[in-house]
Amino acid sequence: MPLITDRKQVLEVYTAAVDRRWVLPTFNSENLTTTEAILTATRDYGRTIGVEDLPIIIGITNKYKPRPQSVYYTHTRRWEIGMQLFLKELEVLTSGESPFSKLKVMVHLDHIQWDDDREFLDWDMGQFSSIMYDASTLPFDLNIEKTAIFREKHGDNILVEGACDVIGKTLNEEGGLTTPENAERYMRETGVDIVVANLGTEHRASAADLYYRSDLAKQVSKRLGKGCLCLHGASSVAPDSLSSLFEDGIRKVNIWTALERDSSVVLFTEMVKNAAKIIGRENTEKLITQGLLGKKIDPGNNASVDFCTTTYRQHIVFQEMQNIVLNYLSVFYNSKNEHE
Ligand SMILES: [Zn+2]
Repeated sequence: MPLITDRKQVLEVYTAAVDRRWVLPTFNSENLTTTEAILTATRDYGRTIGVEDLPIIIGITNKYKPRPQSVYYTHTRRWEIGMQLFLKELEVLTSGESPFSKLKVMVHLDHIQWDDDREFLDWDMGQFSSIMYDASTLPFDLNIEKTAIFREKHGDNILVEGACDVIGKTLNEEGGLTTPENAERYMRETGVDIVVANLGTEHRASAADLYYRSDLAKQVSKRLGKGCLCLHGASSVAPDSLSSLFEDGIRKVNIWTALERDSSVVLFTEMVKNAAKIIGRENTEKLITQGLLGKKIDPGNNASVDFCTTTYRQHIVFQEMQNIVLNYLSVFYNSKNEHE
């Protein structure tokens, strides 16, 4: 089916997810390989639990300085070209004869900046299912003011997610965590559909001092009532520490870093193991001599075109990203939850 962008239909997907005790996952993507891995894993997981039209949200950031994903989408490094391609590819992958045409795919704009993304906001926002308006770097009152204006302008047509606080202060900076009072005031005064709170996670890949504050999530979600609480920075904590999300009142979770970080390990290992097939005997021997490769590497193989292509490298990443997504889906779409 085509991308679900109509506000009413998007809200229906969110409501149905709550009925099934699912936490809706949003995986960000900055290339076609990632997009296909997310869709493939979702289709496969849907089949294993007998839900062919499993919902999935695919997100992208625009001029968000920590990771401007539409900019990285193409080597032109132009956000408007990247954004158009991202949307076009999703459109093709979700329609017609595509193997993913049964899925309920929604497209999310992530961390749209109140200042740097002004130009982008003149685009037709109707192409998107939800948008995270991020004014969290501003003082709290101003954040509320800006977000309320944005909600007023776009909120009748698109689901608006707002950032109550900056995600990523350490636990030592107690002030960094969202308080239930602030979350409630933020939602009431901005009118956003989804609130992103700082619940201890971070956008960094990982850090020893981080953990997801399940207790705080429960307090915040209680104050928000039926409002939708969203967790960002899920890659910074172990997936099995996220198994209580639904119980804690979290309805949407955003993930990106883990896809790239964890697939890199597999890609790197595979390439080292197959060094000679990729770069040939002479280059392998040179790297062994330089101490960059170990003696266990067999330089006896000849290079093969099957191993030195972009396709080869992308395929390894694609397969591992699928595994990572499947792992998260089994936590967030845990069918055990439904029967409790
Ligand atoms: Zn985020």
